[in-house]
Amino acid sequence: MSVLEVDKLVKHFPIHGGLLQRRVGEVRAVDGVSFAIAKGETLGLVGESGCGKSTVGKTILKLIEPTSGRIVLGGEDITALKPGAMWPHRKRIQTIFQDPYSSMNPRLSSGTIVGEPLENFGIARGRERDERVAALFQRVGLRPDAMRKFAHEFSGGQRQRLGIAKALSVSPDVIVADEPVSALDVSVQAQVLNLLIDLQEERGLAYLFISHDLAVMRHISHRIAVMYLGRIVELATKRELFARPLHPYTEALLSAATAPDPRRAKRKRAIVQGDVPSPAKPPPGCHFHTRCPYAVAECKVASPTLREVAPGHFVACHLR
Ligand code: SF4
Repeated sequence: MSVLEVDKLVKHFPIHGGLLQRRVGEVRAVDGVSFAIAKGETLGLVGESGCGKSTVGKTILKLIEPTSGRIVLGGEDITALKPGAMWPHRKRIQTIFQDPYSSMNPRLSSGTIVGEPLENFGIARGRERDERVAALFQRVGLRPDAMRKFAHEFSGGQRQRLGIAKALSVSPDVIVADEPVSALDVSVQAQVLNLLIDLQEERGLAYLFISHDLAVMRHISHRIAVMYLGRIVELATKRELFARPLHPYTEALLSAATAPDPRRAKRKRAIVQGDVPSPAKPPPGCHFHTRCPYAVAECKVASPTLREVAPGHFVACHLR
């Protein structure tokens, strides 16, 4: 059963201009995204910067309101919930940021930071809170006596462990992790990813894992959704996506990330030439047609739908 379902999610940001600051357009950051995540599963959301993947995460967390679509968390529709009504659900969906330091009060000890959600949600206070925080520190690989330290006294990897402990403190079902290891050294990245995998196995956590890095995705994801200009263009299991990418954009991303054969790499790299068009003015038809070497006339006028072309393998391309 799915713990998180997202159905035709849309988030458009208005653009205002002119003397009267009238609405003159919109940025189509997310344009009809659907997926579901099961208990204990990691869905990776991958794409270039500006493709809308972080906006999907923020919208699901209700940090920004969706323009349309549906978000169902643990069987309950949370799409239209206002902040007050959303509060009890925040326990069930937590987040890990790229830079946990930016969300930590520098004047508070790390123990207080990790214990804050326990107090805010009325889960534990005083000694019980401290005991729980100490256990969380230990679980994420930090010494319990580090609870007295301040966030600036930790390394990048340790701060990310603090962020994970804070997210875990309220025993969520789902964690939205937005580029959680991209600021870390590669060796530290692997340690943090392995910690996340272990915690998932222990607690049945579901992760929506947002990253631009395919190597990271390969390490942690069970399934991967590839986004391009606000839309999912391909979704498949990790094994299937890496073995048999069907969308030209996925093919290009993979060949740029993994280029064992220089001749092949040269040919494939040509596919990703050119900039990503602005989401304020996406190309008509298939958004990828301006960069796609296989584009045909139909691609310029008709938008391909995401279809299941093999069991569990979805692709949005007229040629598949
Ligand atoms: Fe390329 Fe056309 Fe497929 Fe889009 S629909 S990816 S332009 S072939």
